[in-house]
Amino acid sequence: MRFLSDTMLFLSKVSIAKRSFAPYRKFNKRHFVSVTSRARKLRGKRILHISATRSGGGVAEILQSQVALEQGLGLDSKWFVIQGSPGFFKITKKIHNLLQGKSGILTPQEKNLYISESSRMSSGLPEFFENLRPDLLIMHDPQPAAFVNSFPASTPSILRLHIDLSIPNVSALEFLRPFIEKYSRVIISRKDYRPLWLPLKKTLVITPTIDPLTPKNQKMPTRKARKVLMNYGLNPDCPIISQVSRFDAWKDPLGVIEAFYRAKNELPHLQLILAGFFQAADDPESVEIFKRVQRYAKGDPDIFLFENPRLLKDISIDLFVNAIQSASDVVLQKSLREGFGLTVTEAMWKGKPVIGGMSAGIALQIKNGKNGFLVRSPSEAANRIVALIKDRKLHSKIGKEAAKSVAKNFLIPRSLKEHFEIYSRLLGGRAAKSV
Ligand code: UDP
Repeated sequence: MRFLSDTMLFLSKVSIAKRSFAPYRKFNKRHFVSVTSRARKLRGKRILHISATRSGGGVAEILQSQVALEQGLGLDSKWFVIQGSPGFFKITKKIHNLLQGKSGILTPQEKNLYISESSRMSSGLPEFFENLRPDLLIMHDPQPAAFVNSFPASTPSILRLHIDLSIPNVSALEFLRPFIEKYSRVIISRKDYRPLWLPLKKTLVITPTIDPLTPKNQKMPTRKARKVLMNYGLNPDCPIISQVSRFDAWKDPLGVIEAFYRAKNELPHLQLILAGFFQAADDPESVEIFKRVQRYAKGDPDIFLFENPRLLKDISIDLFVNAIQSASDVVLQKSLREGFGLTVTEAMWKGKPVIGGMSAGIALQIKNGKNGFLVRSPSEAANRIVALIKDRKLHSKIGKEAAKSVAKNFLIPRSLKEHFEIYSRLLGGRAAKSV
């Protein structure tokens, strides 16, 4: 392959080491067989994923495993991230917020900038495609969505929208509509995220999954996890609650702190961890939200904030996140909107009772009172924290149900199987069921 010309420098390749799918057989034999037999027919197919960032956030988390396993199964999958300007990512973050239901509008200047930056960044795409000859193009979320204007007409394309589209700001959705409509298929995480104007036959639903074999999700005994946290000032003998999330208004970190303060009235030794490492290139708001969180935490010695990856001692972010989730008595994800919420799945997989904000994505995972709790306010969250920490029987019952439901529904062999069905359909093969 020729080297990419200078016009292509806005896309950078994410190096991914291919991984064998064989160890996943133990999780679900039926899915395993289905994935491997489909993979044989897809061998050598060139799948091109494009997203906004290589780390920080759910899309990056999903692609790191999906692309590695697709490669391990013989597909020629590649992943590139766009190198948008700060101004571009500011607008795409606004688009993200509007699509999740924030009020407001995109100004004509913002719309123009999104379109002109997208076409500037995609000016080199024809040459890129000539070199790469992809069989299938998959764009993740709105950041690269407008690239569709530069796709070869004969190459099938998928737009994978990971966000919560349950109550979108209609004007933002209408702005994106001409781009969305050009894709061969659109994948969403919930049936009711489908915009009404999007034909059913073009829409597919894939509920996300986690990879049980990454350092983040491998089993870490609670004692070992608490020892890790001791190095960062936590007391391993006192109860710990946590939320691992980008510092983002939809994740409601202030609501988590309020719930903590309320629960602390009954549990004076309670400790809270809020971790959201600054990693995502496309998230310009996190610094501002973090500052607000710092002010709200008022230097409380029992609140532990983690945002700077450089302050981690000899441990990767993934292992540290594992340690936080594994050491916690209760995990919170108090999101006001959530496309799915991998952090919920990750904690449930570790057998933790999760208290989630009543949002469409989290409701896909938590059945209230059965395998976790859904709450509408900080005071409800506080009541659940106290009940779970005081009632060990309830704690253990909910935790066990949580792990069971992830094992059954939310592990990567299932979503790989669903992706391969769609790939086969678009590249010639058996039909994938639409919504
Ligand atoms: N995450 C992380 N470090 C952090 C915060 C989050 O590695 O400081 C990971 C988290 O473990 C999960 C993903 O980022 O795998 C977040 O995905 P989710 O769907 O919960 O939320 P999103 O960020 O996509 O809105």
